[in-house]
Amino acid sequence: MSVIKIHDKSFETYLSAETIQQRVSEIAAAINTDYKGRRPLFIAILNGSFMFASDLFKHLDIEAELCFIKLASYKGMKSSGNVVTSIGLEDDLFDKEVIIVEDIVDTGKTLHKFLPKLLHQQPQSLKIATLLHKTDATEYPLTLDYVGFTIPNKFVVGYGLDYDGLGRNLKEIYQLV
Ligand code: 5GP
Repeated sequence: MSVIKIHDKSFETYLSAETIQQRVSEIAAAINTDYKGRRPLFIAILNGSFMFASDLFKHLDIEAELCFIKLASYKGMKSSGNVVTSIGLEDDLFDKEVIIVEDIVDTGKTLHKFLPKLLHQQPQSLKIATLLHKTDATEYPLTLDYVGFTIPNKFVVGYGLDYDGLGRNLKEIYQLV
């Protein structure tokens, strides 16, 4: 096990590059089977999911489209809750078979707030693929269709995920010591 330092915090190896790659190829295989003869549109959520989306896409042997979007939350003028809006979603989702690609689902709040906006466009189907899922942190229940790893409620970095801007380039996933 190796320990690295990012900013002021120490992180130890949690998932090796090989373990991640193996699991990503298994998820892709499941999607290849489930979507055979169909043409899903993958919507990857930036920034964290870029590596997962890229590796996942390389393993697909079906026809598939991919777009990247960014979610931003802001406080509504009148509502007290955060509103989630998307930047970069140009595709018309009507009748499309959509697969959301996330790096990590923590409380579930982000997707819980965002999904109604996608469903409003009446896609034919909507599924979620997330590399990591912190099951103990769930506050907003979601149906997750493809989950890479169920992980404890500890902060992680690497493979696209950052700690205060750094660590996204790591091939492994590290956990806060
Ligand atoms: P949720 O809305 O599900 O609570 O949070 C989802 C977002 O929080 C993720 O897309 C990610 O940006 C961030 N996040 C949650 N847990 C972690 C973590 O352990 N590490 C990092 N780097 N980001 C996290």
